[in-house]
Amino acid sequence: MPGPGTVRYGGNTSCVEVRTPRGRVIIDAGTGIIPLGRLMTQPEEFGLVLTHLHWDHIQGFPFFLPNYRKGHTIHVYSGHKADVSLESVLKGQMQEPNFPVNLGGLPATLTFNEVPKGESFSVPGARISTVKLNHPNEATGVRFDVNGRRLVHLTDHEHTPEYEDSVISFCEGADLLSLDTMYTPEEYEKHVGWGHSSWLHACHIAAAARVKQLVLFHHDPNHDDEFMDRVADTARREFANTVIAREGLDLEL
Ligand SMILES: [Zn+2]
Ligand SMILES: [Zn+2]
Repeated sequence: MPGPGTVRYGGNTSCVEVRTPRGRVIIDAGTGIIPLGRLMTQPEEFGLVLTHLHWDHIQGFPFFLPNYRKGHTIHVYSGHKADVSLESVLKGQMQEPNFPVNLGGLPATLTFNEVPKGESFSVPGARISTVKLNHPNEATGVRFDVNGRRLVHLTDHEHTPEYEDSVISFCEGADLLSLDTMYTPEEYEKHVGWGHSSWLHACHIAAAARVKQLVLFHHDPNHDDEFMDRVADTARREFANTVIAREGLDLEL
């Protein structure tokens, strides 16, 4: 939630941009995609990968300016979700009485692509590996392997023993691992089954998978900047190379 308490870490919902030498890939269309869209003024063909279709990951889509510019070609992908089509969910979000502009009326060229569970797929600029995550209605973790560098982004995941092996092997040796850490360990105890992890879970996975850098991602909207500073201090005692995700954070691999 944007406001005086979140000026440093930011208050928009999930959106991550990955740039490879061959192009741009956007992961999730939370409200963070709105400021990104303002910068995308030139016609472009790119992939938008939705980790899942919960509101905080798609609510920026109707306000994404490239949708309103002829010449943009946007390939939208999603996998690991309830038994509904990706296109029907995005359409529902934009139909009356929810929104005045219909999905079918957007000037950009849009394609909708279902990603088979656990399989890899190609988007303009990259090939992406996926893993099933533990989240209500399921979510997809993504991995980029480009020029010998490995980036893993796992958001909306509750770490449990059942997912230990698959998640750790998926993250093995990553140069950068960005992980869902909505809760403190104490808060997690009150939210078992809600589909999110604690920063302590993330530090455990990062150490077990021997990753080089850990990014704590998907902050609880009730955690302000000062709270996140305390999380950073505590988490770094468990895993030294830990960064807290914040709006506009730019990391180069
Ligand atoms: Zn979710
Ligand atoms: Zn979420």
